[in-house]
Amino acid sequence: MGASVTHQPIRAVFLGAPGAGKGTQAKMMAGRCGALHVSSGDMLREHRRRGTDLGRRAQGYMDRGQLVPDDLVVAMVLERIRQPDAGRSWILDGFPRTLPQAQSLDRSLHAERAGGGTAAVRHVAYFDVPDAILVRRLTGRRTCSNSACGAIWHVEFQPPRVAGVCDSCGGQLAQRPDDREDVVHQRLEAYRTQTEPLLDYYAGRGVLVEVDADQPPEAVLADLVGKLDG
Ligand code: AMP
Repeated sequence: MGASVTHQPIRAVFLGAPGAGKGTQAKMMAGRCGALHVSSGDMLREHRRRGTDLGRRAQGYMDRGQLVPDDLVVAMVLERIRQPDAGRSWILDGFPRTLPQAQSLDRSLHAERAGGGTAAVRHVAYFDVPDAILVRRLTGRRTCSNSACGAIWHVEFQPPRVAGVCDSCGGQLAQRPDDREDVVHQRLEAYRTQTEPLLDYYAGRGVLVEVDADQPPEAVLADLVGKLDG
């Protein structure tokens, strides 16, 4: 067996529908291999919280369950992975979500390589979960509103000891506005029409691995590591 993926620089894209568990896996994997976890959704929510121009421009799209325009998201993510702390290892969670975003990422990494930098996206993991499970996962999700904590619970799959209260810090739990059922259906539709074509795009480059993400997080992580190493 070759060197473990967790001991090499990792430049990965995590793909999958909203609720597939990309964020959970990206956090665990980033922790294991010392990579930067870059979540475009978290970055956009942070811009909204701070009331930046980008946050204001993104909010209507996010609340409706639509994708934020490519130019806004591309600039935000590419700038983030060019920061010195991104180093050579990162995991992109929720980006790219459209073909033009994937092409912009490729162009940027290609330009970096021409300048003597390291290589392009090496690993793309697709987290597969049936639709009915996705809806239950998203609509039952509750997030700690204490931004220093941000723990995620689930009314059915991982309930806190006291309903509505975070076990970790005692903060109030809230439902993300875009986890309401009507918006969830919009987000899944955006995924099907705009993001799913990326599976073919990356499969064609031979960098795509598929993981059954309808399992407990530790089992998904074990599959993921095994497949990336293979
Ligand atoms: P997430 O937390 O990844 O589910 O993202 C929440 C929302 O942020 C999405 O429904 C979109 O409105 C927006 N968003 C996040 N990442 C992207 C992206 N790569 N392209 C466009 N919109 C995005």
